[in-house]
Amino acid sequence: MAESTVADLERSIGEIAARWRGERAERQARRQLDRQDFDLLRDAGLLKLAAPRDAGGLWDRAESSARIACELYRRLASADPSVALVSSMHPAVVAFWLASPDPSQPDWEEQRQAVFASAAAGEQWGTITSEPGSGGDISRTRATASPTDAEPFLHGRAYAVTGEKHFGSGFGITDRMMTTAIAQGESDPTIFVLDVRDRPWDGSAGLKLTAEWDGIGMAATQSHAMRLDGAPAVKLAWNRELDPITRAAGPLIASLFTAVILGVLDEAVVTAREQIAKKADQLRAYEQVEWARAELDHWVAVQVYEGALRAIEGGDPATASYASLRAKEAVAELAETALRRISRVLGGGTFSLRSPFARWSEDVRALGFLRPPWGLAYDTLFATSIDPPAGP
Ligand SMILES: Cc1cc2nc3c(=O)[nH]c(=O)nc-3n(C[C@H](O)[C@H](O)[C@H](O)COP(=O)(O)OP(=O)(O)OC[C@H]3O[C@@H](n4cnc5c(N)ncnc54)[C@H](O)[C@@H]3O)c2cc1C
Repeated sequence: MAESTVADLERSIGEIAARWRGERAERQARRQLDRQDFDLLRDAGLLKLAAPRDAGGLWDRAESSARIACELYRRLASADPSVALVSSMHPAVVAFWLASPDPSQPDWEEQRQAVFASAAAGEQWGTITSEPGSGGDISRTRATASPTDAEPFLHGRAYAVTGEKHFGSGFGITDRMMTTAIAQGESDPTIFVLDVRDRPWDGSAGLKLTAEWDGIGMAATQSHAMRLDGAPAVKLAWNRELDPITRAAGPLIASLFTAVILGVLDEAVVTAREQIAKKADQLRAYEQVEWARAELDHWVAVQVYEGALRAIEGGDPATASYASLRAKEAVAELAETALRRISRVLGGGTFSLRSPFARWSEDVRALGFLRPPWGLAYDTLFATSIDPPAGP
């Protein structure tokens, strides 16, 4: 990465996070995203981070850039978890095009460049892949896609996608959203890009809002449910099986989500420590133990996150997949447990929505449900536990 530009980005995100932290009470009460927050992040250069340098972005290789990206989203999440989660979906989606170059597929390479140009130009990417009843497993998609004669908005073939989708974090803010469907004449699902910018949600142009996001945590993420009915889309130009693409992108995606929740936990622990320090000599034995264990949970969470980043830096794909999924699942458990312990030490006031801990306790629960959600993640944890990669 170009040192000065990344340094500028890091400085800007640090300043933004510091400002947002000062607005915590108001931000935690939000149920909607604010366009200005995303303009600020775009102007700071955050969207460019996911595009390779030769496409006008700031990305080198996962081995050197993943840590920088994760640390930025971790810092943002300590200030505003919902904005950080939505924002982290951008590199998590662009990752599908980043991770798998293949010069033998000219259409794929051209589409990759078009996706990178979009990210470098400040277009916000997100995803509405999840389908009710699929458990986050894209092989269970019931959505369908038919080719159309429309002018494609991105290099590739134009399609129209139809199906029920939910959890579209960032709807209303995003310009492009990834989804999955089975293309006409094919038996396996693949990825499609939806053009969602300024598209109405009343069913008149392919998108119908079926349920507004009412999450008890990550409350402002606008993770709405939508019915896609002939929604304009472009098919992934990769012409082989999907698995290598999803596997290659997996470690970065898992680590980005882990970073977001770790950022929330960082802030909860710092805030709790300030309060506990004032009454440390009055704590009962039980409270001392619970706080010590919460602090230990946080320390372990930081170590496993570091382990995942180091595995990505090591460059071995199997080790990176092994470590990043374990880090995601471990941090999901640790963060929930740590918040519960902190609440017990700080008292019943943490049950009130006036306490930041009430919101944080729910925000951290998102990690276990984020892709791959609990059941699907544990299928892989079990399978890879029998024959782990060498030296994970
Ligand atoms: C805060 C938050 C933000 C998110 N943001 C996004 C986003 O931006 N984009 C996105 O695409 N997703 C997003 N997700 C969704 C996430 O990635 C998972 O896909 C989603 O949580 C899966 O939902 P579920 O476990 O309730 O599964 P569901 O699909 O509702 O399934 C419920 C249960 O049924 C089981 N099941 C699945 N299939 C079957 C079957 N055929 N028969 C019987 N049982 C079955 C599952 O294992 C699961 O236990 C988000 C989730 C959260 C919490």
